[in-house]
Amino acid sequence: MAMIYLLLASLIASHAQGTFGDRPWPTSLTALAADGKLRTDSNAIVPTSTDFGNITTALPAAVLFPASSGEVGALLSAAYSTPGWPYTIAFRGRGHSTMGQAFAPGGVVVHMPSLGDAAPRINVSEDGSYVDAGGEQMWIDVLRAALERGVAPRSWTDYLHLTVGGTLSNAGVSGQAFRHGPQISNVYELDVITGNGEMVTCSKELNADLFDAVLGGLGQFGVITRAQIALEPAPAGVRWVRLVYTDFATFTADQERLISPRPDGAFGPMSYVEGSVYVNRSLAGGLKGTGFFSDADVARIIALAAERNATVVYSIEATLNYYGNATAASVDQELKSVLDELSFVEGFAFVRDVTYMEFLDRVHTEEVALDKAGLWRVPHPWLNLFVPRSRIADLDRGVFRGILQGTDVVGPLIVYPMNKSKWDDGMSAVTPAEEVFYAVSLLFSSVANDLKLLEEQNRRILRFCDLAGIGYKEYLAHYTNRGDWVRHFGGKWGRFVEMKDKYDPKKLLSPGQDIFN
Ligand code: FAD
Repeated sequence: MAMIYLLLASLIASHAQGTFGDRPWPTSLTALAADGKLRTDSNAIVPTSTDFGNITTALPAAVLFPASSGEVGALLSAAYSTPGWPYTIAFRGRGHSTMGQAFAPGGVVVHMPSLGDAAPRINVSEDGSYVDAGGEQMWIDVLRAALERGVAPRSWTDYLHLTVGGTLSNAGVSGQAFRHGPQISNVYELDVITGNGEMVTCSKELNADLFDAVLGGLGQFGVITRAQIALEPAPAGVRWVRLVYTDFATFTADQERLISPRPDGAFGPMSYVEGSVYVNRSLAGGLKGTGFFSDADVARIIALAAERNATVVYSIEATLNYYGNATAASVDQELKSVLDELSFVEGFAFVRDVTYMEFLDRVHTEEVALDKAGLWRVPHPWLNLFVPRSRIADLDRGVFRGILQGTDVVGPLIVYPMNKSKWDDGMSAVTPAEEVFYAVSLLFSSVANDLKLLEEQNRRILRFCDLAGIGYKEYLAHYTNRGDWVRHFGGKWGRFVEMKDKYDPKKLLSPGQDIFN
């Protein structure tokens, strides 16, 4: 059915020639159309009508495949200055959103990866302190280029096959965020083409209002064509540990111990701290799905859960990065001094030694395995929440030991704390009011024709959180009415609207976020 809809819609769109209503493209765009860079054919538009979520579809009228930032600028200036311009415009990085956030229904999608076709636009600075990366570049390629110079960005997402512009439009979080903040806290400078068609360089010192608005700004103010990103020396290797718990309070107390700054403001030695939750019916599948535990480890953990009558098992995942002259013995010693202070179940610490690349690209390894098994390109009704520390135990009670009990969970459930002081509240991204808050990522995959059930389950989870008065914020949210967005942004809403009026007054950009249209 969906396929027939797509074919029909693509026929209609290509009939309309995706031109400027019934008229030809504005003169400034005719060369792009003639060069085959602004296309309306179904081979161009159909692939941009779906995304990683596999839940919703929407066809654009046209797709721009730009060879330069100037060509993106030409589109945005034409859109701004042409009276009666009918198209919204979305910037599609990898289309790894889950609810059509990179769609432009009936509008123009800018296929960002084309910007990097001629040459990779990644330049590590002479002194190795920063990298300039095109907004279309994938983080995995930024990592490769930086590692060649012995350096690496400090803050990551769990999965690296996402674009720089795509993650910076949200926040970009992973287990390093507690000490370095999200990716948006690690950017020195941006080049942005605004909805007015102007190319603007911005930073904390220069055009700071645009810089702050764009970081976490959901693509609403312009397109990021270059980001200057902070680097640090790359570690020589990574000691990667998983620790097992059957008690939530002990699990979170240990996580918070690992992410808390000492009195002098410095952090402990762990470089990355996350955590996973496994509900009883899905314990074996969940543990195996990590690719981390051996079959024997999995059997031991299952036996532990049975012995303790645990309906949920929790696991801290953490790493200790080590550098140049560290020896195996010195790393062992440093890790031991950290583990000695924690209260995981005795004998249930699992340790591996890997390269930095192996660690950071770990989800891609899972992707390859899942894709082979036909389990990657399935619907993904994901729910991502930022939950204040004071209410995280309520979430455990209501969701992990409540709503999800007796269900077959397919996909990881991730829980880890971050420090709000590492976020810049002047930027567009929103977080809960408390100093420590948790990322709670319920990354469900629908593999049993159960999308509707999973969506209903997400609604139940949100209802539970609302009724319990948990002051959460959704991350990677998708709301369809203005009131929800106003609530989401809270005190930042007024500023968000002011910046929209200033930088995209015609309200054309990133319509798939459903904020202003
Ligand atoms: P797209 O989906 O193509 O675009 C997303 C939005 O950003 C759209 O509104 C688009 O118009 C806008 N946009 C894209 N490029 C630009 C640009 N250059 N300038 C301005 N706006 C732009 N997120 C995390 O924070 N942490 C994680 O650990 C994490 N893990 C993930 C794992 C997987 C497997 C997946 C699929 C997603 C994960 N995400 C994570 C979410 C991810 O960060 C977002 O979905 C991100 O938007 C995807 O990047 P993309 O390049 O595919 O963006």
